[in-house]
Amino acid sequence: MKCPFCGGTETRVKDSRDIGDAIHRRRECEHCKGRFSTYERVEKFHLMVVKRDQRREPFDRQKLYVGLRKACEKRPLPAGEIEKAVEEIEQELYRFGRQEISSDIIGEQVMERLRHMDKIAYIRFASVYRSFDDVEKMFEEIQTLLNPEKPNTESLNQLSLAEQPEPLPSDDF
Ligand SMILES: [Zn+2]
Repeated sequence: MKCPFCGGTETRVKDSRDIGDAIHRRRECEHCKGRFSTYERVEKFHLMVVKRDQRREPFDRQKLYVGLRKACEKRPLPAGEIEKAVEEIEQELYRFGRQEISSDIIGEQVMERLRHMDKIAYIRFASVYRSFDDVEKMFEEIQTLLNPEKPNTESLNQLSLAEQPEPLPSDDF
C-alpha cells in the first residue's frame, strides 16, 4: 500500500472498522506521517471466457449444461448427474480465482468429469471439442479406454508392506 503523499511503502494501520459492505482502515505513513483511508471490499466478478480466437464472452452455465447433455444423450446416467457435473465444473472454474479463463481450460474440466462419468460421452465430447490436430492423441486415448491396463496388484502390495502411507488430509472444501 503506497502512501498517497510521499509514495512510501511502509504504512501502519491505526484503526480498522467494519462498515457493512467493507472494512474501513485508517493508515499512517511511516515516512511522512501522512494519514489516509483505505476500503477493503469483496471483489465481485463475472467470469469471462476467452475463446480460441481471443474473443471474450461471459461464462454461461446454461451453455455448459447443454454441451454436457448433448454428449451424454441416451447414455445410462443417473438423474441429476449432469447438473452435478455442471455445478462442480463451475465451482472449479471460480476456484482458479481468475477473472478470465480460456475455453480450453473449461473443455479440459468437462473432459475430466466425463472421463469418469461415461466413456462414450467422453469420446463424443472430445471428438467435437478437440481440434483435428489432436486426432492422433485422441486415438491413443480411445485405445487406452478400450484396453485398460490391469492394475499391478503385486507391486501395490509390496508398496503397502514396505511403507504404510499416511492418511490423506481431508479437503476443506
Ligand atoms: Zn508518506
